[in-house]
Amino acid sequence: VEERLPIPKQNLRVPGPTPIPPEIMEAQAAQMINHRGPEFSAIMKRVTPRLQYFFQTTAPVLTYPASGTGGQECAVVNVFSPGDHVVSVIIGNFGTRLAKIAEAYGLNVTKIEFPWGQAADPDVVANRLQQIAPYRGVLLTHNETSTGVTNDIQSLATVVRNDNPDALIVVDAVSSLGSLPLEMDPWDLDVVFTGSQKGWMIPPGIMMIAASERAWAAHKQSKLPRFYFDWSSARKQLEASWQHPTTPPVSLFYGLDVALEMMLKEGRANIFAHHAQAGEYVRNRVKALGLKLLADPRYASNTVTAILTPEGIETKALLTKLRKEDNIVLADGQDHMKGKIFRIGHLGYFTQEDLDEALNAVEHRLHELGFQG
Ligand code: PLP
Repeated sequence: VEERLPIPKQNLRVPGPTPIPPEIMEAQAAQMINHRGPEFSAIMKRVTPRLQYFFQTTAPVLTYPASGTGGQECAVVNVFSPGDHVVSVIIGNFGTRLAKIAEAYGLNVTKIEFPWGQAADPDVVANRLQQIAPYRGVLLTHNETSTGVTNDIQSLATVVRNDNPDALIVVDAVSSLGSLPLEMDPWDLDVVFTGSQKGWMIPPGIMMIAASERAWAAHKQSKLPRFYFDWSSARKQLEASWQHPTTPPVSLFYGLDVALEMMLKEGRANIFAHHAQAGEYVRNRVKALGLKLLADPRYASNTVTAILTPEGIETKALLTKLRKEDNIVLADGQDHMKGKIFRIGHLGYFTQEDLDEALNAVEHRLHELGFQG
């Protein structure tokens, strides 16, 4: 039998999964309970209104054992019907994925694409929407993790609503909700989803999703096939017993319960402020090293920073050195940006020392690899 190696202690600075605070790890190590029993229901009863608070919605927040991609699929299958015309606003890899899922389910997708590193320009979107109409929904990404860009969702939602008051506004908030300001009800968003492994300080495995009354009405009419992700069964079970239709990842809910307690204690505004400070700090240090950022500075993300790998340096060599010699794990670029950028995550649970350690090591290893900046 091959020897099982211990999981290394690393400074994990990818944009999810993110490190887990010790008190959450401890909570997750507790013994199993019956997911149909009162103890589990008590957790859901505590967790659900707290999620509503972070989503800024009065709509029920449904939770599924799934990753962020599950959220994308869950959003699409619950509100649309085959052949529906939807507009996909794409600024990077995860916007592309959401459009692909819509296409896979037989929707008629029109794409409005912006170059990687740019945000979606609300004026451009407004003009295009008028040419594209009629359409049933618009698919948006709040924080594009592949490029480190945060869209101005409030302005984009306003543009859509002005053009088409009945349109369903679907927002992928996987790497932003709980870390960056996003107001579901005040901004009149219809479907919003996120993933546990990002700003929520727990491991991958819980997807959280909420739908407006407009989206629930669409759900009743929608004809796409669905079973596991069907909102009606999830809502029915939640309202009847604070439980799930299928077996939930119980240990992750132990963690989520503690995470939300910690997040409430810190306060929503303070959480947003510390992410904003971290984003600015990382960007300033990176620029001071003579490196260039991918993101348009007006829309640079406060949860992840994408940095152009300097000419003559191999991204893979840099990331391997950092992992092997410094125990620091950063992310490569995705799709056509693989090898061209590297990304530093600064979301969820991290300290100033974690950021400094990573940035100091980047500086040191880049110079070792011949960077003259
Ligand atoms: N959407 C966004 C914005 C993401 O950042 C991610 C993952 O990084 C996903 C969707 C897909 O999530 P997952 O990898 O958990 O399926």
